[in-house]
Order: sequence, then C-alpha cells, then structure tokens
Amino acid sequence: MIGYGKILRVNLSAGTSAVEDIPETWPKLFGGARGFGAKILYDEVPDYCDALGEENKLILSTGILAGTNIHAVHRWVATTKSPLTDGYCRTVGGGDFGAFMRFAGYDCIVIEGKSEKPVYLCLSSSGCVFRDASQIWGKNTEEAQKYITADLGGGKNVSTIAIGQTGENKVLFAAIFCGRRSASRGGSGAVMGSKNLKGIGIIAERNLSHLFNLEEINRLGKEQLVFMKDSPSYILHRDYGTSDGMISRNAWGVFPTKNFRYGYIDGWEAMTGEEYRKMRIGKAGCHICGARCGLIHKVQEGIYKGAVSEGPEYESYWSFSGTIGSVDIDATIKADQLCDDYGLDSISTGGVIGFAYELYEKGIITKEDTDGFELNYGNHEAMIELIHKIGRYEGFGRILSMGVKRMAEHYGHGSQDYAMHSKGMELAGYEPRGLKATGYGYATSNIGGAHGAGTLALQEWGEPVIRTSPEAPYEEWGVPFPRFLDRFEDFGKEDVVIHNQNNSCLSEIGVICSFSQGWGGWSQRLFGPMLVAATGIEEFNDRRFQAMMGERIFNLERAFILRQGTTGKDDTLPKRLQEEPLHTKGMPGEGQVVGHLPEVIQAYYKLRGWSQDGIPSEEKLEELGIGYARQDIMRAIATRQS
Ligand code: SF4
Repeated sequence: MIGYGKILRVNLSAGTSAVEDIPETWPKLFGGARGFGAKILYDEVPDYCDALGEENKLILSTGILAGTNIHAVHRWVATTKSPLTDGYCRTVGGGDFGAFMRFAGYDCIVIEGKSEKPVYLCLSSSGCVFRDASQIWGKNTEEAQKYITADLGGGKNVSTIAIGQTGENKVLFAAIFCGRRSASRGGSGAVMGSKNLKGIGIIAERNLSHLFNLEEINRLGKEQLVFMKDSPSYILHRDYGTSDGMISRNAWGVFPTKNFRYGYIDGWEAMTGEEYRKMRIGKAGCHICGARCGLIHKVQEGIYKGAVSEGPEYESYWSFSGTIGSVDIDATIKADQLCDDYGLDSISTGGVIGFAYELYEKGIITKEDTDGFELNYGNHEAMIELIHKIGRYEGFGRILSMGVKRMAEHYGHGSQDYAMHSKGMELAGYEPRGLKATGYGYATSNIGGAHGAGTLALQEWGEPVIRTSPEAPYEEWGVPFPRFLDRFEDFGKEDVVIHNQNNSCLSEIGVICSFSQGWGGWSQRLFGPMLVAATGIEEFNDRRFQAMMGERIFNLERAFILRQGTTGKDDTLPKRLQEEPLHTKGMPGEGQVVGHLPEVIQAYYKLRGWSQDGIPSEEKLEELGIGYARQDIMRAIATRQS
C-alpha cells in the first residue's frame, strides 16, 4: 500500500512471527500510528482482560511521516491495556525507534502471548529472530540496549528499545525506553515485562521507497524550516528544553507543591533553566529534530556528585521537587537518572513518593511502613532511597509500585481524598485549580491524569505564540484561533478540551512531537500536505476529514475503556481539587477550587454526542463510521451488570 508498510505480528507463546498487510480501509479511517494502535487493541483485546495476562497485547506503531527529512515527526506509540488504570494506555516514545520501524517496513509490531523464558527480538525487513535474554534479564535499560545493539553488530543502522528491572517486576508504572527516552505513562513497560520480553532491536538501512512523493516531502521539509527557525517557542525549546517551566508555573500559582496543597514552592529560584544550564554537559535529541531538547546535566559536587541525566524535563523535575517540597536541583538529576536506569515513569514515581510523604505527615504510615525512612518534607535523600526501593522491588518499594490509587485502597483512613490521580494515573505537574481546562482534560482523558494526549489547554496559558499561525485568525474544528481562555473561569471550555483531545489523536497519526506544534504554526499549515505527499490520499488536506479522524480515534479509545469497566463516574478529579481551596502564597489563584466539575462534565458529554453516563450515542458512532462499537459497549456493560 502506498505510504504504508506492514504489520509484524509476534506471538511470544508460540515463538512465531508473521507479516500482514494493513487492511485497505484503515488509512482513511484511522490514519496510522495512534489510530492503528487503537484499532488493533480495540479489535483484538477482549473485555475485562487482565492487563498483565497473556490476552493483553502490546502494539508498537510508527507514523506516516517517520524516517523522512521532516523535523520532529519520528516518535512512536505504544498501545496496550494499562495495568495502572485498567483502561487505555497510549504512550509516545522518542529517539529513533519510530524511524527504524519505518525503514524496516513495519507500521505496527503487535506483540501477543507470553514467552516461557526471557527473550529479546531482533527485527529487520526480513522478519523477526527470537533471542535468549537471560544475559540481560535484571539489567538496566542502558545495559540491555547496549547488549542488543552489540548483538546486531552495532553501528548507525541499529535502534533499540528495552525495559529495566521495574518492567520485569511489573511495577505498574514501568516504561519502555529508546536510549534515554521513554514511552512512559500507563505501565507499557510492565506489560512488556509480563510477556518476558526484555527488548527489541531493529537493523535497517534508510528506506523510504513506500512514499507517494518523496520529492514533495523533501520540499515541504524545507518549508517547515522557514516556519521554525524564527519561532520564539522553537528557540526557547532548543536552548532550554522545558527546564524554565519553574518560573512561569510558580508565577501563575500552578506549581503543585506538597502533593497538590500549594501552587507555589518557596526557593524555586534555585531550579530555573539558568541554574540547570550551569550543569549542562551536552545535548541529545530524537531522530531529525533541530531542537534536540534532551539537555544533559551532570552534578558537579555534593552527595549526588557524578549523577547525569538527559533532562530532567519540567514534569520530571517537578515530580522530584514540588511533590516532596524540595528545591534541591542535584536531587532532581539523580532521581531522573535512576528512573531512566530502572525504567520508570518519572511522573508516577514522584507522584507515589509525594503521596507517601503526606501519608507519613498525617500519621497514616510510620517508619515501620517505610523501611525506616523519615518522609519529612524536603528530605530528598529519602526520596532517592525510595526510588531504589521501587527499582529493586523490595520492602516499601513494592507498595509504592502499585500507584497512588491502589496505595490509598491499601492504607484507607481517608487517604483516597488526597490520592492525586485520574482513572488511576498520577496527575502531572499542572495545578487544575489554576488551570481549569487542563483539569477537565485530566478528568476526561482516555488514559488518565497525563498532561499529554491533548490534556494541556495551552489556550489558557496566555502565551500567544503557542497558537499563532500565519493564517490566524482562523477556525479549526469549530474552535477559533487564536483563542484565549480565562484560566480561572469554570464554564464554557468544553469545546476547547474536546478540540485538543481530538487534535492530539490526529497529530499522533504522524507522529508529530507535541512540543513542535507551536513552532511558528508549521503543523497547522503543512501537516495535511505532508500526509498527502506521503500517502497520495488527497482527503488528508480536508479539515473536515481530519477532524472526523481525530474524533473517531478518540471515540474508539473511549469505547475500549468502557468495555474494560470504566464508567462516567471515573471522569472526575480528586476531592482535594474540588473542595480544598488552593494556596498560592501571594500568587494569583488563592482560594480557587474546581467547583463545578459535574456540570462541566455533562456539558462535555453533550457536546461530544454522549449520554449522561458518558457513553457515545449510536448516532455519533455511526456518523464516525464505527457504529459496531455501540453494540460492543452495551454487551460489556450488560456482562458487568449480570
Ligand atoms: S522537541 Fe525534543 S522530544 Fe520533540 S522530537 Fe525534538 S528532541 Fe524529540
């Protein structure tokens, strides 16, 4: 099929693999990458399956534009049933694995079953070879990838992914790593570990012979550079990554501190991008991306001397500072390094540790529970030890490995009220009481409390560069741009939340890196033409066609989680955010709460064409060309009620 490759299906139980064609109808319905992952998971994973059991599948998919000369479009998507949320896991990874999937000729790698013994896979355009992983079982992500790379002969034609020890131990928020870049949220690494799959290596030469019009792709790639090069958001991202987020989040009172009790942390000046810059020793990036936003930092002195991390990014350094009330920059680098080594999602790791600190403060847990560590706010040394405990899956680390939702169920005594998650996923570092649309995004996200997948509503950040396009003002899917929202306003934001969620689904057929969407507005202008040049499918230029595709993918994901037991009651936020006034220490937003969530959720459902219970209507699903999902949802609900 022009513009596409094949599906590689690997059955670990049987030790077999097979190459399949992509069904003819899929490109116009689901586009690629995230859309294909959603379709395969929906079709092949049964209702209420055990996320860590043999019936679950792990789908790795690459985008339509992967491997081309276009910047920031080479990410890959891991799709599976999430062991953390028991719902949908879509997580996006960086590095070069997406490009190498494309070069080897695979749009999707479907991993099914469970190997009897630990294995890793060596892939090429000729297929899949199974290898004994006993030598690297128990090794960290870097050691495992080095081993697989060497086995494939090393060199520029090899790309790898792997899990660390936490994936092997099925820590519910273990991630999959490509180099030091992770597909992190939702426990995809635990699913990989549950299948006894340590890693995958691909060896392939650059090959784009499947493309409809390579010359046009190259021309559009040059045009993209014109948009990017003078864009302030591109320059900022290239020079600082996300490390300067500390300044604005604190100025806005939305830097979640001490498990979301405050929106401001004292002493934040010690952790600005400039402070990180003093420790910078290099840069790294994904395949073909001028930003190379992986800023490598090294601790030069003190108890963490020698610690090196590719990052931390904003969410990671928040996760290891705000959550425990510390502003120790060295500790954030050490913690980030450990997460990358052990193979952990840094946001959930910080989330469970921050929650444990609050349980300790409230006396719900004591030193008896924490293996002797005193979890007093500011104690970053204890935090580092707890990451080791999770990494080694020992003692209190086993409890932390369950995530905050299960920890709260385990400890009780009202701890559910301040377990900061949505659908079981620990919230990212943005305070919903000061960013209401982002809070609504957390509540209604198919994957839970992630800031990706269209959750961050940049329209309320007040940064005009984010949505400025050469064509502005214009309308996109019924939402005018540029569009700015009052971040404290409760009502009238559901159209923006829906737009962002659908747009995320669409852009991840590419797969566009979400950072790059604001770079001079290139994606609004060029994404459609790029897809047409890659596939020859003219409809990709049609905004209505694009909008339907994004909405279709989102609704199919929603249908999947409803079939797994999620209900409208799960579209919510922790009690703390809805009832406890925010404290911002003099910054804007003091006293704010998310005070009208049920009404907003109903308005959201109505605009989506869903019932008051959050179930997509028959008409909506028919309109989107996935009418079959209605019957599947109702069957699963009937099974649950019987
Ligand atoms: S901006 Fe950063 S994360 Fe995005 S593609 Fe470039 S290097 Fe990768």
